[in-house]
Amino acid sequence: MCLTCKIISTEINPPGGIIYQDRRVILHHCLDINIPGYLILSPLRHTTQYQDLTGVELAVIHTTLQQAAAILQQLPGVEKIYICSLGEETTHFHFHVFPRYRWMLNEPDEAIRTDGKIDGAKLFSFMRVKHKISPAGMLSSTIFAAAEDLRNQICISDGGAE
Ligand SMILES: [Zn+2]
Repeated sequence: MCLTCKIISTEINPPGGIIYQDRRVILHHCLDINIPGYLILSPLRHTTQYQDLTGVELAVIHTTLQQAAAILQQLPGVEKIYICSLGEETTHFHFHVFPRYRWMLNEPDEAIRTDGKIDGAKLFSFMRVKHKISPAGMLSSTIFAAAEDLRNQICISDGGAE
């Protein structure tokens, strides 16, 4: 069973608990990167490619994505939200919803910039490596507070028919 399917089956409990789940999607905090508000959004159905998502799944995923990004944008120090899908570590399709904080720009130029400009892919990759910790280390109050805050604010109607 893949990592995401283990979270869905409650074998693994993400830090701060599940932020949002309905019949089609699950939103939770990243398991092992210590950046408050760094979220993972996946369909419940195990599928590996964006192009395999159904219209209903797409609709719920994008509604959830937009809300999550809008809420993260309000966190203190967040300048913008990176949204991407890579799928190299976990094959279960997912979006990374990554808040880019102002403090991240204090890193050395070679870590986050290319030709003097912020390089989003480079910054994202650098931060993921730098802030990776053991899942036990994720049991911090800032991660829990971010998860709780998001859970309280997110409001999605799961009324769509198949
Ligand atoms: Zn899976």
